[in-house]
Amino acid sequence: MADHYDVLGVQPDASDADIKKAYRRLARELHPDVNPSPDAAERFKDVTHAYDVLSDPEQRRRYDAGPQADSPFGGGGAAGFSDIFDAFFGGGGGGRGSGPRSRAERGQDALLRIDVDLDEVVFGTHKEVEVDTAVLCETCHGSCCAPGTSPRTCDICGGSGHIQRQVRSLLGNVVTSAPCGTCRGYGTVIPNPCPTCQGQGRVRARRSIPVDVPAGVDSGLRLQMPGQGEVGPAGGPSGDLYLEIRVRHHDVFSRDGDDLLATLEVGMTDAILGTTTTIDGLDGPVELEIRPGVQSADVLVLKDRGVTKLRGSGRGDLRVGVQVVTPTKLSHKERQLVEQLAKSHKATKPQLARFQQGMFGKLRDRFFNF
Ligand SMILES: [Zn+2]
Ligand SMILES: [Zn+2]
Repeated sequence: MADHYDVLGVQPDASDADIKKAYRRLARELHPDVNPSPDAAERFKDVTHAYDVLSDPEQRRRYDAGPQADSPFGGGGAAGFSDIFDAFFGGGGGGRGSGPRSRAERGQDALLRIDVDLDEVVFGTHKEVEVDTAVLCETCHGSCCAPGTSPRTCDICGGSGHIQRQVRSLLGNVVTSAPCGTCRGYGTVIPNPCPTCQGQGRVRARRSIPVDVPAGVDSGLRLQMPGQGEVGPAGGPSGDLYLEIRVRHHDVFSRDGDDLLATLEVGMTDAILGTTTTIDGLDGPVELEIRPGVQSADVLVLKDRGVTKLRGSGRGDLRVGVQVVTPTKLSHKERQLVEQLAKSHKATKPQLARFQQGMFGKLRDRFFNF
């Protein structure tokens, strides 16, 4: 006789749950009610016997201990009737006279993308979003019936929602239960459907929802709005609405976590002599001091002028990278002045710089990857 574990297609260390799952899968495939071939009937017997043994802790222990310990008649073919039933009707006896199902079901969740600007991200914003979704039918309020009418008990199943029939099988007569086709398992039929919603209990509508977008959100983040998704069939509870944030590209500022990054172009003479200037931050003007001798890729850090933190408190920093701009057009006079400067100022020859691994490497990369 083949090994019980092989018969079920599981490993010898399989858990009880795995064994049960394997058995249910095979039973659905091989049960004589579904598979009429004699081969399948034979395999079904083997599978059932293997399951008998392995699903009983004591018998499984004896079987594991050695082949002699397992009598081929050990289990007595008692493969839990309820397990076979479960294999077909999804466990818990759910298919068996568990009453009609409700028309009302929870509505689906909805996903919507919303675009926000970077300056809205810095402090958070308030928006109205338009949602095209299912809402409760105003005519029938979810009853699905035309005004003044009501559902009628299904004649075919008598209101149970299920039809039972007896099936002969290897194991004797089995009572199977299936949802009633006339009422689709609801136990009632609707003789006069609501004309507004065609008996759905809900209609599609556009509505506007106010949304508070918190500060510090980033692209890809989803805001959950409980109960703002679509209303379920027959007035069932609403699903949730998810808003996926997309932050629009900004011409000047980019973002690194809670920090804002920007590039400041500084003229050659300002770079040499130093200056002060005012830049337009996302929340107003900011004064910047440029020290004499500032270099390209130097970074000026403005504390707490970045994005408001989504978690925790405070704001990130604004990091401004300097880019020294070399003049390309000089008048004759200017050229003479620069030549004089070159003579008196013995600058080092152009040379290859050593790679600098600093905290601003990232920003430096940004300059050269534009
Ligand atoms: Zn209606
Ligand atoms: Zn019915």
